Amino acid sequence: MTHAVYLQAARAWLGSGRSSRMLKQGEWPLYALYQWVHSEASQHHGERNLIYDWLNASKAAQNAREPGWYGRFLNRETGCSHCSRVQQARMVSVCTLCHQLFCPWCKPKGTVANGNRRHDCGGEVV
Ligand SMILES: [Zn+2]
Ligand SMILES: [Zn+2]
Repeated sequence: MTHAVYLQAARAWLGSGRSSRMLKQGEWPLYALYQWVHSEASQHHGERNLIYDWLNASKAAQNAREPGWYGRFLNRETGCSHCSRVQQARMVSVCTLCHQLFCPWCKPKGTVANGNRRHDCGGEVV
């Protein structure tokens, strides 16, 4: 499901002539996309290169808006959506669809067919 959602958005971006309005926006949604593209699981899906291009263009736009954001983002203190633990963002996993945050202890145990962890909303926790 994540792959279908990302692919549809990436195709829409391509179809728009790579419009900046069609890029992935927001730090956690962008991080979820990054983590998903770099997960082992994404290798099992088609047209990964198009999704990868869309990710890179989205990252470049975010960097242009806010130079150096990624390093600061990874070190930011971040609360889990499910318990009171606070971690650096780099230790936190995120759902690709609803963007809820999971500390290592609250990460779902179930998996989807591609091997990623499955969230109840149908998203993947990456
Ligand atoms: Zn937690
Ligand atoms: Zn979710």
